[in-house]
Amino acid sequence: MKAVPEYFGSLVFDDRQMKARLSNEVYDSLKKTIDEGKRLDPSVANAVALAMKDWAVSLGATHFTHWFQPLTGITAEKHDSFIAPAPDGGIIMEFSGKELIKGEPDASSFPSGGLRATFEARGYTAWDPTSYAFIKGNTLCIPTAFASYGGEALDKKTPLLRSMEALNRQAMRILKLFGTDGVKCVRTSVGPEQEYFLVDKDMYLQRPDLIYTGRTLFGAKPPKGQEMSDHYFGVIRPRVEAYMKELNEELWKLGILAKTEHNEVAPAQHELAPIYTTTNIATDHNQLTMEIMQKLAEKHGLVCLLHEKPFAGVNGSGKHNNWSIATDTGVNLLSPGDTPHENAQFLLFLCAVIQAVDQYQALLRCAVATAGNDHRLGANEAPPAVVSIFLGDELTAILDSIENDTPYSAAEKATMKLGVHVLPRFQKDTTDRNRTSPFAFTGNKFEFRMLGSSNSISCANIMLNAAVADVLEKFADELEASTEDFDTALHALIKKSISQHKRIIFNGNGYDDAWIKEATEVRGLKNLRTTADAMPALLIDENKEMLLRHRVFSESELYSRYDIMLDNYCKTVAIEANTMSDMAKRGILPAIEAYTTELAETVSAKQKVLPELACSYEKSRIRRLSQLADQLDEAVNALEDSLVRLGLESDITAKANMIRDEILPNMSLVRSPADEAETLTSSKYWPFPTYGKLLFGV
Ligand code: ADP
Ligand code: MG
Repeated sequence: MKAVPEYFGSLVFDDRQMKARLSNEVYDSLKKTIDEGKRLDPSVANAVALAMKDWAVSLGATHFTHWFQPLTGITAEKHDSFIAPAPDGGIIMEFSGKELIKGEPDASSFPSGGLRATFEARGYTAWDPTSYAFIKGNTLCIPTAFASYGGEALDKKTPLLRSMEALNRQAMRILKLFGTDGVKCVRTSVGPEQEYFLVDKDMYLQRPDLIYTGRTLFGAKPPKGQEMSDHYFGVIRPRVEAYMKELNEELWKLGILAKTEHNEVAPAQHELAPIYTTTNIATDHNQLTMEIMQKLAEKHGLVCLLHEKPFAGVNGSGKHNNWSIATDTGVNLLSPGDTPHENAQFLLFLCAVIQAVDQYQALLRCAVATAGNDHRLGANEAPPAVVSIFLGDELTAILDSIENDTPYSAAEKATMKLGVHVLPRFQKDTTDRNRTSPFAFTGNKFEFRMLGSSNSISCANIMLNAAVADVLEKFADELEASTEDFDTALHALIKKSISQHKRIIFNGNGYDDAWIKEATEVRGLKNLRTTADAMPALLIDENKEMLLRHRVFSESELYSRYDIMLDNYCKTVAIEANTMSDMAKRGILPAIEAYTTELAETVSAKQKVLPELACSYEKSRIRRLSQLADQLDEAVNALEDSLVRLGLESDITAKANMIRDEILPNMSLVRSPADEAETLTSSKYWPFPTYGKLLFGV
């Protein structure tokens, strides 16, 4: 067994490989491309391609692929072989700079929301040199962006890179105002904590709902759920432990810094957290992590469920997006500093995030909107659908003090004056233990907690980066134009920002109904409960205008994304509805019939022997099960009717509203008689593994 440092990153063409395999000129030129976004010279590209190919071939790779993230699905790849014929009848392994930089996958099968129709039929992939190439199986994978020939983004990476660039542009202006020297760029970093469930593969294969939709559509509550809280940080079971061990090893080989792993609140639920890294790399890594988690589970006779809500009544799975902004020189701009100067800068960035989250709360909600995530948000297990920020009492008190020119604590006589005072060191605020806040400041970073477990983290970070870039732009405009001395102008700006946007700050319990009431009725915050409610925010003028102005999206890209997100929502739920009706008709109703028939036969058999017997138990069971079967049949018919009507609707917004208002409520009506019937039917007849077996069966 090799030691971890020996194999960490062994499947990655990282800086160590570049240094070892490239000439100094080529290496320096590539570094400039990676660090400063400089254009890559074709001759340099050829040299890099050659070195990359030789390295990959030495590790057994035979193919290469441009690895990208289309608008739905996880990741896509089209494999090409390195093999080219040699004149002597043999072969050579070839890979050119041109092939490295640009690819042309057959794009017609990826969703484009109509974009390709209006532009070009084909799309192309373009190398993202900031994210290292890696080997998966026998294939060299090159992280790429995917765009149409008209330049419209057809993927999740392109706008993410643009949003990082937008934030970089504006943050650099701010740093310049503070007189900061030697910084070449500002980047955002992310550490996403990934939750997931593991279930036994044999049981999984007996549940069409898990196979087709990734979640259970039926299932009575098991006798034991998560009420004992004995799973969280409990002992990891041997099969799961073996899985986690191998998962870590696979991720480490790919240079992914998987760090912590533990059980979660729900039985069969677990979490994996990596060490944070630059946002676009973290996004690629998270996609890879999800892919490997699923693939590896099979090998262990398990299935990894990434769905946000695999089991009703049991906590679902999310993804905490830990996010910060740092300079290339390693200064975290969300970390309070040691000097008055650093503190003033910290407070400015802090206020920019607060203002951005308040102003663009609907965009953040949009970014995490999926059919699966709608089951979690606001279900008293995950943050509510209302966006708010947890700052902790200490920091809130300091902002209060700045806003009102009052002392910020009983001990402190002075008011907080920017550029003069040093902030106290904030520890991670312990009042955040309940983790009910959608967006929490945790000492030197923000934790955006609304993401669903299966979501790409890209969308959330695009919106977050863009929103913060926008506020930083306003701040920079104002400070640059000010005729007052810098500290005075800064103080006034921060004061104004706090007073206009403090409504978004909430340090209390986010699960409390009273909070939702206060948030919406008193503070005017938005409660966008479903995807159908949230998505229109993408297209309202102020949001659209902001995203266009920072060149994060073009107008047609936004419309296409709106279409694709809603189409995905509608299709997901329609598949669920069809699966439900199929399971009810071919699995559940026949099971009820078989069992009630057996009961009826029992009654006749018993009464033949003892005619005086009432057989009241059997009869009442038959009566109730027959009622439930009728109810179920009726609900299935109603659901099928709505599905027919859904099929006739062509407008995507109307369709999404129909899903919310008709299909989902009808699905609940199908589920409830079926779940009751499960508790009354002999397990001998019930066709699907129960919640108890699924949750406690690994
Ligand atoms: P928790 O209490 O939620 O478990 P941790 O402090 O262990 O939080 O960190 C959770 C995640 O936050 C990890 O992935 C970690 O790498 C990441 N993280 C830590 N510092 C930063 C930072 N400055 N920027 C982004 N992510 C960070
Ligand atoms: Mg966390």
